[in-house]
Amino acid sequence: MNENIMEHSDQFMATTYKRFPVLLTRGQGCTLWDDQGKSYTDFVAGIAVCNLGHVHPEITKALCKQANTLWHVSNLFYTEPQAILAGWLVRNSFADRVFFGNSGAEANEAAIKLARKYFKHQGQPERYRIISMEKSFHGRTMATLSATGQAKVREGYDPVLEGFDFVPFNDIEALRAKIGPQTGAVILEPIQGEGGIRTPEEGYMESVRQICIEKGILLIFDEIQTGMGRTGKLFGYQHFGIEPDIMTLAKALGNGLPIGAMLAREKIAQAFQPGSHASTFGGTPLVTAAALEVVQTLFRENIIDHCRQIGNYFKSRLLWLKDRHDSVEDVRGIGLLLGMKINREGASVVNACLENGFLINCVQENILRFIPPLIIQKDDIDALVAYLDEIL
Ligand SMILES: *Cc1c(COP(=O)(O)O)cnc(C)c1O
Repeated sequence: MNENIMEHSDQFMATTYKRFPVLLTRGQGCTLWDDQGKSYTDFVAGIAVCNLGHVHPEITKALCKQANTLWHVSNLFYTEPQAILAGWLVRNSFADRVFFGNSGAEANEAAIKLARKYFKHQGQPERYRIISMEKSFHGRTMATLSATGQAKVREGYDPVLEGFDFVPFNDIEALRAKIGPQTGAVILEPIQGEGGIRTPEEGYMESVRQICIEKGILLIFDEIQTGMGRTGKLFGYQHFGIEPDIMTLAKALGNGLPIGAMLAREKIAQAFQPGSHASTFGGTPLVTAAALEVVQTLFRENIIDHCRQIGNYFKSRLLWLKDRHDSVEDVRGIGLLLGMKINREGASVVNACLENGFLINCVQENILRFIPPLIIQKDDIDALVAYLDEIL
């Protein structure tokens, strides 16, 4: 059966994904099972998505309840769950308004469009350019791959969308030098996820904020990976004592249901008028009812405090590995967005882990990334660390 389904998939699916030869059939909390009944501890969480673990009972309950009530009506009408979720996001962030889409890329598309629209609205149409960071990742649609500072994401799709300039992350002078009369915004991730769990240096984010104020340009935070508690705070920007003007969310917002959100301050959000932007599926009752339960559970169960504590513990164990093994070059990240750079191809370690019942992944060839559900416990971390200690 296993072989058949995997062959079937390879035969009929687009050839965009290189997959592990595993057919996953069931999940619960931090555990996944394949069709052979083998279990895996999940340190990937569907790429930082299932923050509350798989098949969380309260979210499943909320989803089933909504599935028996109302799924979709379009944004021609009001629906309750989306209104309440938007209010929750506004109350718990810097923002005043929310636009819902279905993915991270779509949230970033909305942010890019809003930044352009805002300056048109302000009578400065020349300010359409956006500065982005080298090694950033903002998505796979044409606009968001154009905003992405990685050649491998852009390759083959020329000409990309005009209007993006790139500077190295953590280089404040390069940023200052790049800002010109056509610059309208700076977009960046508080911690670069796909780029290798690269964290900002002391004072960098504060300086970026300051420069954006000085130059009258917008600061856009892509919190698609860092948001919703992943770093030990609800949003990544809260680590720096600053606030962006626009923020994008997706991944963990729905714990696996497809939802993205673009949040902005009132003055900027006002640039979108009825008809300016839209999404058929954006913020359906079904998805927003589940996402609302996700955010409420995050608070009710003190998941973010747990993430901060267990993340510190996990990082201390990775640093312990670094002390013991020359093959470990660096340990980085905060909360449960952690990376460990090794001096060889990460793929062999990832495959060995898979064989032994641990799902981890690797970014930028040699940086092992650990992004488990935020509910992960010490025992699971100890088991993984003991195994890594053995194979490193
Ligand atoms: C995953 C990710 C995206 C893209 O999200 P999709 O839902 O795959 O479109 C954008 N930005 C960051 C920082 C991400 O981690």
